Amino acid sequence: MIQRRKSKQIEIGGVKIGADAPISVQSMTNTDTRDVKSTLKQINNMAEYGCELVRLAILNDDAAQAVKEIKKLSPIPLIADIHFDYRLAIKCIENGIDALRINPGNIGKEENIKKVVSLAKTNNIPIRIGINGGSLEKDIEAMNIPLHEKMVMSALRHVKILEDNDFDKIKISLKSSDVMTTIQAYREISEKVEYPLHLGVTEAGTYTGGIIKSAVGLGTLLAEGIGDTIRVSLTDSPVEEVKAGFSILKALGLRQKGINFVSCPTCGRTQINLIKLAKEVEKRLEGFDKPLTIAVMGCAVNGPGEAKHADYGIAGGINEGYIFKKGQIIKKVCEDKLLDEFVNLIQTENV
Ligand code: SF4
Repeated sequence: MIQRRKSKQIEIGGVKIGADAPISVQSMTNTDTRDVKSTLKQINNMAEYGCELVRLAILNDDAAQAVKEIKKLSPIPLIADIHFDYRLAIKCIENGIDALRINPGNIGKEENIKKVVSLAKTNNIPIRIGINGGSLEKDIEAMNIPLHEKMVMSALRHVKILEDNDFDKIKISLKSSDVMTTIQAYREISEKVEYPLHLGVTEAGTYTGGIIKSAVGLGTLLAEGIGDTIRVSLTDSPVEEVKAGFSILKALGLRQKGINFVSCPTCGRTQINLIKLAKEVEKRLEGFDKPLTIAVMGCAVNGPGEAKHADYGIAGGINEGYIFKKGQIIKKVCEDKLLDEFVNLIQTENV
């Protein structure tokens, strides 16, 4: 059982983050935020896969204006991602945004910071300080210290600005595209502040490489109890980010959502097309919400025994397969009917 780091709790549009709240999965749209229809379509799609919070890039005034319409129909809370322009932050708050990602130190004049912070406070809007290892303040960048220390220093500087303005609904991220730097930065900040942490490895890459980097970076931190909400960053569909996020949490036993899928690597004992079958079973049960463990194993000699913890399983034979429940074989089915029979059984027994 993972002992979570002690942290404060904030709430974004009803989703609690920090302390004992479940670690939430969030992602970011990659549509043009001004295109309300496409953005909502993508948000709905992400929400179907369990996304709990969604961030939108607010590039200009029209995007801040679109927040109003998106907010009316979005099934999940919205976070505005803003760089530098305090007026966009104010407009997003006025249009019903649930949280902001803006670094107060980048806003500029003191009076403008005060305007944003005081409006955020009145409207109960948390602010995420989002540090990116590639875009630090020039004076910090010039220091002769390791990158993760620079990132922490930068984060603490922004934290101080918010605290000096009597604001504490803070969430922090310290992302680097380098996994070890990310891990070290989060470890260090986790000992210095009690604010909830948003985990992510930034610019992680395309599908496979990105998932591996995120799983290693986020997984290491989560296993140490660090992290309150996560975003897997992939050069791919945000839905894939959401799926990967839940897979990381499920692998650590931190969330139980949908199928926990188990399959063997196959070996010389495998006599059916198990790789294809495993992929098809996983795809057919993708949206299934019950927290079941499903196993697809290559042979009846070792399969049912090795996967006896699974609620349902398949063990391959010669042009046929055995369906088992909790390690006990209940049925023998020919290979071409195996997929349908297996999926139907799970669906009818778990309505
Ligand atoms: S379950 Fe059977 S087929 Fe799969 S790896 Fe183990 S021995 Fe090989």
